[in-house]
Amino acid sequence: MSVLEISGLHAEVAGTEILRGIDLTIASGEVHAVMGPNGAGKSTLSAVIMGRSGYTVTSGSITLDGVDLLALSTWERAVAGVHLIMQYPTEVPGVSLLDALGEALQYRGRDASDLADRLKAEADRIGFEHRFLDRPLNVDLSGGEKKRNETLQLAVLQPQFAILDELDSGLDIDALRDCSRRVEELSNDAKRPLGVLAITHYSRLLNELRPDHIHILVKGQIVNSGGPELAAVLERDGYAAFTDEDDEPAAGSATSSLDDLFRI
Ligand code: ADP
Ligand code: MG
Repeated sequence: MSVLEISGLHAEVAGTEILRGIDLTIASGEVHAVMGPNGAGKSTLSAVIMGRSGYTVTSGSITLDGVDLLALSTWERAVAGVHLIMQYPTEVPGVSLLDALGEALQYRGRDASDLADRLKAEADRIGFEHRFLDRPLNVDLSGGEKKRNETLQLAVLQPQFAILDELDSGLDIDALRDCSRRVEELSNDAKRPLGVLAITHYSRLLNELRPDHIHILVKGQIVNSGGPELAAVLERDGYAAFTDEDDEPAAGSATSSLDDLFRI
């Protein structure tokens, strides 16, 4: 069993503190949802876990089975077993899915000889058309097809932990069901149960991807944690129940969030 542990994490972007003391421990097979309003710091959390440039950790730690992830470069964190599905997956012209995954498996010391067959089998499981398997990575795919493609990569790579930043954004209801079901299955895998950190604004993602724990992130801090019942409270009352009405509005807004940087 593996453990991803985030402890006392403070991080800033462009001189502004965005994450203000995050504690989160995820074990293999557990599904944790981090939910919060726009601008709460959700995408910042995913960026800091993966080591995206421009984000400065000012205190705290992130470890994977005791290994200091913050000391590793992004690709080393990925090889160590942490996989991010970004809110807006990047298109990579000139690089095929087969080549990218073949290299990734090789770096992990894993067999890639039957990769083409595995890709087809995975594609069938999540309704990803075979003709897209030969496309350069994510190029000219719709939002839903990109998320199916990213979910397929996750299933083939079998990392210890997956961070899903708004897996549900840009997805139609069928793609959302297929992708979240597959992630849920991976978390229940008897041999290699995936630990999941599902970052989302809406509780609809959680209908298929059933979280064991829900954390509410507001202004860079987890203000409440609980079981799946918290999603129902959010559905009913919104985030108002967890924010202090007298405060300033949450830092940033839908129009100034990191997510916009990924929009083309
Ligand atoms: P969420 O994903 O919860 O909507 P983000 O993590 O994208 O929130 O953003 C949290 C806050 O950090 C917002 O106020 C946003 O404007 C700010 N922020 C995030 N990334 C950057 C950046 N690269 N440069 C400047 N401000 C940023
Ligand atoms: Mg975001």
